[in-house]
Amino acid sequence: MITFYPGPSKIYPQVADYAAEACRSGIVSMNHRSPEFMAITEGAIRAVREQLNVPDAYHIALVSSATECWEIVAQSLTQQTSLHPYSGAFGKKWLEYAHRLKPMHQPDEADVLCIVQNETSNGTQVRMSVLADFRRDFPDALIAVDAVSSMAGIAFDWLLADVWFASVQKCFGLPAGLAVFIYSPRALQRAKEIGENAHYNSLLFLHENFAKFQTPYTPNGLGIYLLKRVMEQVPPIAAVDALTKRRAAAWYRFVEREMTDSPFQLLVNDPSLRSDTVIAIEGSETAIGAVKKAAKEAGLLLGNGYGDWKNTTFRIANFPAITDDEIEALKEFLRGVTPKLQLR
Ligand SMILES: *Cc1c(COP(=O)(O)O)cnc(C)c1O
Repeated sequence: MITFYPGPSKIYPQVADYAAEACRSGIVSMNHRSPEFMAITEGAIRAVREQLNVPDAYHIALVSSATECWEIVAQSLTQQTSLHPYSGAFGKKWLEYAHRLKPMHQPDEADVLCIVQNETSNGTQVRMSVLADFRRDFPDALIAVDAVSSMAGIAFDWLLADVWFASVQKCFGLPAGLAVFIYSPRALQRAKEIGENAHYNSLLFLHENFAKFQTPYTPNGLGIYLLKRVMEQVPPIAAVDALTKRRAAAWYRFVEREMTDSPFQLLVNDPSLRSDTVIAIEGSETAIGAVKKAAKEAGLLLGNGYGDWKNTTFRIANFPAITDDEIEALKEFLRGVTPKLQLR
């Protein structure tokens, strides 16, 4: 089965060998405070920094999931409350988690602005130019960016936000259970001012531990090892960014030009809002159900719709671990099958 699911998604094929190696060599049984394991954590962080071009001044910690990152932002970096201009299901979920910890009474008391850079649920994205506008309009706020389905797929201007995070089961091409949490000196300063120290994953406690390449708890050692190996293997982000954007443009062209006599169209009409990493395609419930079923029979797994778009869209991951041949196979399938699905 070739998977185009936008998370968990296709892993790099090399991961199988890296995982076997980690088991056979005893890496997964190492004490997480041993110098050997600390060197692996250090290597993983160095590889993330180098491949993704993260500024030297920004700090990198590893946690368990993006959902955990939402809570870290709320508990450790939010003084009063946070503002969430969102456009889809993940943005809404983040708001709900955050406001359970830091309820909003008045919007003007918000000190953190929370942005989902790539809204996986509906295939929209917030471009760097828009982030720059937020930076200009909210000079005092911390800006936290959920980049779960775009980090390691496209390049970012890191300085436009104070916090960036992603779990690794999307563009990183890795199994779930690990997330990368990147934070600026300004974010660390804010954490110190707030002084929140009540949780195992309080940012100050994480920071203290990661300064020694350790973690407060026994970490996902296999995941950290796989992150290191995969980040050492992938091309620098500028090359990945170019590949992702070229493929995204080709996907949008394909849907607009070659699927015209199909019952489907792009969910996002405004090209400036279209995601580079998740393509959302809309149709009637019947047509969506039929195309997903036919694709599965042909060995191709399409992403289900999500949230409000659960039954009326399917999604195609445009993640770097997917190959040109796999993309071509899906296009070939869509060319052949969609005219037969005139089920509107
Ligand atoms: C998948 C996803 C999440 C959730 O990630 P977890 O690792 O399951 O916590 C959050 N935000 C976005 C935009 C996502 O795509």
